[in-house]
This record gives sequence, structure tokens and C-alpha cells, in this order.
Amino acid sequence: MCTLFRRACDFQGKDIMSRGSIQPEVYAEQMSKIYDVIIIGCGPAGATAGTILARKGVDVLILEKKAFPRFKLCAGMLTQKTFDFTDSIYPGLEELLKQKEIIRNKTKEYCIRTRDKQLCAGRSEDSFVLVDRQQYDHLWYEKASVSGAGIRQEHVVQVDVTASRVVTDSGRVYRARYILGADGGTSRVRKTLAREKVVRPPWSRGAALALETFVSREGKAFPDYPELIVGVVPDGYAWSFPGRSRQRVGICSARILDGKTLKSRLQDLWGEKDLLNIGQTSIQGHVLPYGDYEKNPGYKNVLLLGDAAGLAEPLLGEGIYYAHASAGLAAQAVMECWSKTDRAALMYSGLLGDILKEMRFRWYLRKAGLGLLPLLESSFMSSFVHRFFCRLEKRIQRR
Ligand SMILES: Cc1cc2nc3c(=O)[nH]c(=O)nc-3n(C[C@H](O)[C@H](O)[C@H](O)COP(=O)(O)OP(=O)(O)OC[C@H]3O[C@@H](n4cnc5c(N)ncnc54)[C@H](O)[C@@H]3O)c2cc1C
Repeated sequence: MCTLFRRACDFQGKDIMSRGSIQPEVYAEQMSKIYDVIIIGCGPAGATAGTILARKGVDVLILEKKAFPRFKLCAGMLTQKTFDFTDSIYPGLEELLKQKEIIRNKTKEYCIRTRDKQLCAGRSEDSFVLVDRQQYDHLWYEKASVSGAGIRQEHVVQVDVTASRVVTDSGRVYRARYILGADGGTSRVRKTLAREKVVRPPWSRGAALALETFVSREGKAFPDYPELIVGVVPDGYAWSFPGRSRQRVGICSARILDGKTLKSRLQDLWGEKDLLNIGQTSIQGHVLPYGDYEKNPGYKNVLLLGDAAGLAEPLLGEGIYYAHASAGLAAQAVMECWSKTDRAALMYSGLLGDILKEMRFRWYLRKAGLGLLPLLESSFMSSFVHRFFCRLEKRIQRR
């Protein structure tokens, strides 16, 4: 296992009390205030929930461990349904992304191929928009802030579900009526709920290790549309997404969790020389909760959003839309259970019904579809897989 994955697998929460760094008066001051909602993490999920709730006059505080704008490893592909969903929360978002040059590429074309054979290529009805994640997330961070959400740079190290409070590594204690865990694929909130045995532990249904880097486009014939490359790793795929001057290439697998082996697969695909010659960025890795969705992502007044709930789509790994959408539903559950805080998680699971159905459907599709790929050498299988992906694409577009 690579260090990153091992570190992320570390299940032990640090006990801030045992470090002896907390002043009693700091505790007293923090304990006196009870926020309506505390959100942990200010990625797309946390910022969206913060924006919606603050606009409704809720006293909301977002605790985010990193200083923004912060780096986020991500290919940055947004589908049309993302803009359809965010339109009411952030009107004119796509236009603003264009104005600020945060969009790296926008196209309707795509291609799904194996290492040497094209399986499916065409034009989708809607565009795929490729953005710079650091800047995209920063826009959402600012949106939450101007909407009235408080944001503090704090690293949450302990979550006390019974007392409905969190402790940060600066020794501060924050209490709230609701706690929303939007703290990504290595969520501390989810780990805490898992220890209480009220949700499945993270990654128990599987998770992928995802690696990404850039290759210069200079002198190379990269297509100007996104490509998915299947059949190069078990239970996963590779991608190649165009940018202005550099091509974003990556790979993920739910079965190869060893960074060195996965890196060598990426190098095999693109040529070690090119990847090592990039000069700007090294190959980086992050966990992708690929099909790790939790059916009841919460407990009483504590809800899990986005990657913390394992809501990265199980076939192609899309997670940004699901982060926004789950945040919208979590905010709705909070508002509808205002006087019955303990019922929010139940309400939220119900609201997530359609998303969870979609996750399940695509999970089985992945298990069936990607498993067929080693048989591609036969031309019969190749044409079967071609039709399979074309139909799938149409079905995804219709949703
Ligand atoms: C290599 C790669 C490529 C991807 N490409 C795509 C793509 O092209 N399109 C797509 O839709 N999805 C993609 N995804 C998935 C997508 O990045 C995630 O699904 C999405 O970021 C989830 O958003 P989130 O808000 O739930 O979590 P995140 O974006 O991970 O945000 C979590 C936030 O919580 C903060 N945090 C974490 N722990 C704490 C703590 N203890 N205290 C305080 N703050 C904390 C973090 O600093 C972070 O800012 C990709 C993922 C990877 C790894």
C-alpha cells in the first residue's frame, strides 16, 4: 500500500484532550455558544450547504482545515446536470467561470477506448466542462461567505456525536444543533459514526486509489476532447482530459491500491519519458470513494455529504455533482426537521433515495461492464462493448 493510502486508512482519531493543549477558559468561551449548524469541510458539498442554509438565516459555521484557495487533486469535469442543479443556488455560475478563465475546455465530444482500440466516440447532447478545481472551489468558498456563513480555518480532530460538538486541533470546542460532515473521502465524521456502528466504515464497499499528473501538449497529437481509457487496470480506468497548454492524465483502480504499481500502469500507458519530463507537477494520489456510497449517511442530527457519504458515482467516478446535490438535500432535511433534530438523518436518507438508486444501478453496471473488457480481443465482444457503452451514454444523458 502506498503511504498516502495507508495514512488515509489510519482509523485512529487523535484525542486532543490528551495533548494537554486546551485552556479551560477557551473551553468555557466556546462552550457557551451553540450554532445552528456546523459544517466540517468547505469543498463543493460544504460550501453549497453553507450557502443554502446561511441564505435561510441559519447561524452556520464552516470549519475548513486548509487556507483557501487550496489545491484539490481532481480532473475537474462538470456535467450539465451540475449546472442545472447549481443554477438556483449560484445563478450565472458558468458565465462567471468563463469570465474568470476557470474553464479549461468545453466540448460535446468524447471518446471511450482501450489502449489501442476505439470503442465509442461521438457528440453528447450536453457539453462537458473542464474546470480548474482550485479556482472552482474558491468561488464556492466565497459564495458561502457572502451568503452569511461563517468560515474558520480549523482542523477538526474530534467529533462528539452525543454532545453534538467538535474539537479542533487548536483546542477549540464548537457546539451546534446539527453537524454536517462534508470533509471528503477520508472523513473524520464518517469514521466517528462508524466507530459508533451507525454507518459502515469508509471504503468497506471499496474505494479506488486515483493518480493524476499533467503532460505537455506541445508537439503531441492529443485530441481536444476527453478520453476514457478502459481495460488498462482492473476495476477502474484511465483518463486524458485536454487543457490549454497541458493534458491532464490520470488513472484509478479499486483493486490496485499500491501507489507504485498504479504509477507504473500510468507510465506504461503514456510512456515513462513523457510523464517524467513534465517538469511542472509530480504524480499525485488521492482516495476516490468509488462506489462506497452509504445507504443511511448520518445519525440523528449528524449528516454526511458528498465524498464523506461515499457519493462518487461508481462507474465513472463523478463526484462534484453529487457533492452539490447531497448538500442541497442535507440542507432541506435540516430545515424540515428544525424542531426535531434527531430525525434529520432519517429524513435525509429518504431524500437521497433517487441518488442512491442511481448509485446502485451504476455499481452493478461497473461490475458487469468493466469485467467484460479483458475479452475485447474478440471482435464480437468489441462490438458488444461498443453498443453497451453507447447505450449507457444515452441512458446517462436522458437522466
Ligand atoms: C484524481 C481525481 C479526479 C477526479 N475527477 C473528477 C471529475 O473530473 N469530475 C467529478 O465530478 N469528480 C471528480 N473527482 C471526485 C471529486 O473530486 C469529489 O467527489 C469531490 O471533490 C467531492 O467534494 P466534497 O465537497 O465532498 O469533498 P472535498 O472536495 O474533498 O472537500 C472536503 C473538504 O474538507 C476539508 N477537510 C477534510 N477534513 C477536514 C477536517 N478534519 N477538518 C476541517 N476540514 C476538513 C478538506 O480540506 C476539503 O477542503 C475526482 C477525484 C479524484 C481523486
